[in-house]
Amino acid sequence: MKPDQLQLAMFSIHSSPIGELGTKNTGGMSVYIRELARELGSRGHRVDIYTRLNGTGHHQIMDLYENVRLIHLSAGNNGYVQKLALYYYLADFFRALEKFKNQQNLRYDLIHSHYWLSGRLGSWVQERWNIPHIVMFHTLGVVKNIVGLAEQEPDLRLATERKLAQTCQRILAPTAMEKQNLIKFYNAADEKIGVVPCGVNLDLFHPQDKKAARQLLGFDENTAIALYVGRFDPIKGIDRLLKAVARLRRHQRMQLVVVGGDGPETDEFQNLQHLAHQLGVQDAVTFLGRIEQKKLPPYYSAADVLVIPSHYESFGLVGLESLACGTPVVSTRVGAMSAILQNGRAGLLVDNAESVSLANSIAAIFARQRAGEFSAARVRPVVCQFGWENVASGIIEEYGAVFKDPAPEAVSKAPARASCR
Ligand code: UDP
Repeated sequence: MKPDQLQLAMFSIHSSPIGELGTKNTGGMSVYIRELARELGSRGHRVDIYTRLNGTGHHQIMDLYENVRLIHLSAGNNGYVQKLALYYYLADFFRALEKFKNQQNLRYDLIHSHYWLSGRLGSWVQERWNIPHIVMFHTLGVVKNIVGLAEQEPDLRLATERKLAQTCQRILAPTAMEKQNLIKFYNAADEKIGVVPCGVNLDLFHPQDKKAARQLLGFDENTAIALYVGRFDPIKGIDRLLKAVARLRRHQRMQLVVVGGDGPETDEFQNLQHLAHQLGVQDAVTFLGRIEQKKLPPYYSAADVLVIPSHYESFGLVGLESLACGTPVVSTRVGAMSAILQNGRAGLLVDNAESVSLANSIAAIFARQRAGEFSAARVRPVVCQFGWENVASGIIEEYGAVFKDPAPEAVSKAPARASCR
């Protein structure tokens, strides 16, 4: 029987939802967990998000939002541990979790785990607490390996994901493509997978006047500006974006603004800067480092186009954020962008992700911007259905699907608003 107010245990072991967005292990997944939890909490559901204490000095229990707590538990040395090595601390974490739950006399209806490491923990908890377990993988190791750019994901990850796909009660996939991948590569049962997109905070990501945004940020008024926002990871394809800039610069004045990364001392940062020098585009590329999410909207509004040059995205939140700010997107056929951009209304899809195709598409958007084709009134409505109110309603329905009894009103009748103020 499903209660009116769900008590949810969410697991995000390797990455804290309040970590620094845009750095190595902290990106869209953290945003997703935060925003979803906030929306669930505002509807009266109670959410405890468990993460690993990671030398941050945070209190064990933090109240994040109404009805939402972030709980830090010990596993291993409580300091930095490489992501894969964390697997071997999961048993520690499980023990700490059991102890905490018993001490606090907690009871949960449902587990929602994020990423394969937390999914592994979730499968133990599912057995011990005898409650349903919903998994969101966020990325799939098998697909990353097919793309084959970064270090190969270990067999341990692939085997764990495959097993989880068989044993959990339900899987949330953010796109139909991810669902197909789960069926194809992990033999997951079709009927077990619910497709619910990721969301965007439509109140935060709102169009601003481009000229005013450029003045605020000190950007030139008359230069065409392309923007990249995200982590620095080979899978993101920033190198081919730099190569595209080298081509574009032969024909027009432009600037690429790059937001994200772990800072100028890191190899990733230095490699990209080195490439920009090699290509002779160092003066056309500005690396700004990571920027707090709440400060990002003027960057999106100041740009003529956001570029997603990725080899793989499970979803691609930055695309939604840019569109919500009224700025068109050029993207490879990844994540949700394949569907959202397919009619050309709000940007362009690049079929062949070579730098020449990227450059042509960016140039085409610059030209259409000069012709005044992209107003916020044209672009923003494309993402109105992705507001968190709507997305959370879809996820709550998926939660309901794991309970056998019919859903009581309070849970099933979540509002389905498509608000785009
Ligand atoms: N982000 C941020 N500051 C930065 C870089 C990125 O706040 O400097 C946020 C961005 O707003 C987005 C998220 O990080 O919400 C990246 O999510 P996305 O799905 O695009 O990529 P992922 O990190 O999941 O690969």
